[in-house]
Amino acid sequence: MAMKRVALLTSGGDAAGMNAAIRAVVRTGLDNGWDMFGVRGGYAGLVRDNMTPLTVRDVGGIIQQGGTVLGSARSPEFATEAGRLRALATLEQQRIDALVVIGGNGSQGGAAALTEAGFPVVGVASTIDNDLVGSDITIGVDTALNIALEAIDRLKTTASSHQRAFLVEAMGRKCGYLALMAGIAGGAEVVVLPETDTTPEQVAQDLQAAYDRGKAHALGVVAEGARSNAASLAAYFREHEARIGFELRTTTLGHVQRGGRPTAYDRILATRLGAGAVAALARSETGVLVGMLEGRVAVTPLSEVVGRQKRIDPELFALARILDR
Ligand code: ATP
Repeated sequence: MAMKRVALLTSGGDAAGMNAAIRAVVRTGLDNGWDMFGVRGGYAGLVRDNMTPLTVRDVGGIIQQGGTVLGSARSPEFATEAGRLRALATLEQQRIDALVVIGGNGSQGGAAALTEAGFPVVGVASTIDNDLVGSDITIGVDTALNIALEAIDRLKTTASSHQRAFLVEAMGRKCGYLALMAGIAGGAEVVVLPETDTTPEQVAQDLQAAYDRGKAHALGVVAEGARSNAASLAAYFREHEARIGFELRTTTLGHVQRGGRPTAYDRILATRLGAGAVAALARSETGVLVGMLEGRVAVTPLSEVVGRQKRIDPELFALARILDR
């Protein structure tokens, strides 16, 4: 298919590195001789026909910025058939030949829906959750992990000074990747994940065991999607404080984890995946997600990506259990 006009959007939760991906898509696309268009506000901008031409200079000075200069949104309208028809009408009106979707699981679901409707789409794996099948690591994960780690390191200092147990809640939706990796890198005494079944009593025992081994601090990491999240664990500790014998302070990192300057790793990953998306379009390979598999830029059909969740490595969870002694 002869490619002339290509649009791109960022969708779902913002991830540090999205701007580097935008820059790479635009500049490599222009280098192919295509006209490039940025859609503002994710799928909502497609529904409302909010797009603008992008030049080489328009994407200058953004590689070091967190977030996304195109804006992102969660668009309930696009999730409906009527909304998608309006989006398709916009694409036709603007004579767009193909679309690049930079986003996570939900966003790639939208990309798959457009593919099914016959429109050429290429996805770029971007979410701090790292839950996408088709990419070992996704844009934004490394930055989020480093932010979580900095919080853990600081809390450990306080925990040691006051003999208080701390629990840090990491983002990640239904995926425990961020919490597990932050736990390993931060030397947590316990990690609580959606994928494992750790009871509040086990958390109390693991933290107590850390004190029993002579540690000055006890710190756990809990994933937001775990059955027992920070709030419910804190409630359990309050209820049983007399028996447990120590206080638990919780810190929910929340959106602090998303922002900030992307790490070198995220900038390079985003640059490679953005360029990979344009390369896939040039090969007329659409209906795919561009991700990083075993250190290489790779494409996976969206049909194999959507509706699935990448599993965490059970060996890494076992390793975390050994290392927390
Ligand atoms: P993250 O998990 O990192 O926040 P995400 O891409 O998974 O990112 P979502 O909020 O799940 O974020 O999805 C973003 C948008 O994609 C939704 O607001 C909706 O417009 C669209 N979308 C999600 N699922 C579907 C679907 N099954 N079909 C069509 N569109 C969808």
